[in-house]
Amino acid sequence: MLQYVSNTGGGDAVDFETAILDGFAKDGGLYVPETLPKISSAQLIKWQKLDYLELAFEILSLFIDRAIVSESELKDILATAYAPFENTAIIPLHKLKSRDNVHIMELFHGPTISFKDIGLAFLVNLVNFFLARKSARLTLVVATTGDTGPATAYFAAGKSNLDAWVLYPKGLITAEQERQMTCLQQANIHPFGVANCPEGGDDLDAVISKLYANKAFKQKLKLSSVNSINWGRVMMQTVHYFYGYFQVSDKAAIDKGVKVNFSVPSGGFGNLCAGALAREMGLPVNMLVAANNQNGSLDRIFSQATFDKQALINTPSSAIDILIPVNFWRYLYFKTAADSQKIKHWVEQFKATGKVEFDQQTFASYSRGFLSNSASDAQTLQLISEIFQSEGYLLDPHGAVSLQAFDAHKEALKEQQTICLATAHPAKFPATIRQALNCQQLPAAASHHSIETAKRQAQKVHLCEYEVLEPALIHAMQSNWEFNTTKTESNTK
Ligand SMILES: *Cc1c(COP(=O)(O)O)cnc(C)c1O
Repeated sequence: MLQYVSNTGGGDAVDFETAILDGFAKDGGLYVPETLPKISSAQLIKWQKLDYLELAFEILSLFIDRAIVSESELKDILATAYAPFENTAIIPLHKLKSRDNVHIMELFHGPTISFKDIGLAFLVNLVNFFLARKSARLTLVVATTGDTGPATAYFAAGKSNLDAWVLYPKGLITAEQERQMTCLQQANIHPFGVANCPEGGDDLDAVISKLYANKAFKQKLKLSSVNSINWGRVMMQTVHYFYGYFQVSDKAAIDKGVKVNFSVPSGGFGNLCAGALAREMGLPVNMLVAANNQNGSLDRIFSQATFDKQALINTPSSAIDILIPVNFWRYLYFKTAADSQKIKHWVEQFKATGKVEFDQQTFASYSRGFLSNSASDAQTLQLISEIFQSEGYLLDPHGAVSLQAFDAHKEALKEQQTICLATAHPAKFPATIRQALNCQQLPAAASHHSIETAKRQAQKVHLCEYEVLEPALIHAMQSNWEFNTTKTESNTK
């Protein structure tokens, strides 16, 4: 049976269900599978014709015990999770005309039109399945830089075993993203807009950590997280790397093991961590490109061996205005031969000093097969405009950041097929698109019916200043929990 352990070594090994429901490991670390399943080339050849859901079933089955989720249960959860996606391929690829061998992987065809739908569709449905089976209730708290919030709220809405508290930095996400979270009327969804966050989404995470540290509160409300610290998201996100590889590789290429590249707009490193694990599992990947904006934290990790925290810069690709790529610690577990004590030491050093400089041997091990780049705002806008003018294809700012990283490294990448991940629909960022295209009238490709619908609905939201967030949140969460519990008790009397 595959067990899960903390990347920082504390606590006992747990089963899959516990790892998912806990979110964080008991010692505050991140769960990792004790060993990574390996995929042979014979298996790859067998999988090449599978559609997204069939492939997801095969890959997830390597990580999930059948005794915990049966074959038919897993199939049902996957079917339910992806039913709201609008494109039958789930993740279609678009081949660029202006660059050879470059494909845009469109990860934004889910109901909230960002790549967060990919991981959260599955994870929220899985969590609810576990809770319903044991008649338990749980409180999810997530912080968002604009996309995790809408996706969590959408998939949790109306699920009777879950409450979802969704914290967002007011003013630092777009009005469209805010609407996606605040226009759901289901009683179990609780958006919290937080004004004057000095460090954007990162300081919301700090408040969530404090709630977790409050053991009595955490126990009573059964707090858990579906942020990208949850193993379920990283696991689910390995699938689109396999899927993308099959879409751009013909049979001969698969037989010969020809490799592909991925360029990934990155903030918390959840998506790229999944790509790196897919490669460790045996997917033929040449380069993974960490595509950053000016915040550049992963660029510094991969080019300077430095994990540090600098002041937040607000950019047009706001979903990756993230200072701390927490999932990098998870990936390091696999690059230090599972040296959890070393990782614990680095995590503590980072917490104490805001900076870790890795030794040469560690750097050589984790950076092999990685490139990185930091796109400027001007480059991002310019590229949106260039691709729209030259081939009529509209990238969102995050897709542009990933293509910019390809352009910056094309000499190293041009021999293979390269897949640039486009992680959001441009309709989430109309002001940026208008600026990039220098137009008043937005093209049709910059709007989406789900956003237009949300604009005609009532908003429901708690608003507060960052200063008072912790007490305000505790108060609101407590009273909601007590209200629901008394209601259930009086119903059963
Ligand atoms: C969350 C997000 C990312 C970054 O993903 P990580 O897993 O945090 O690196 C990129 N683009 C968009 C649009 C996102 O919402």
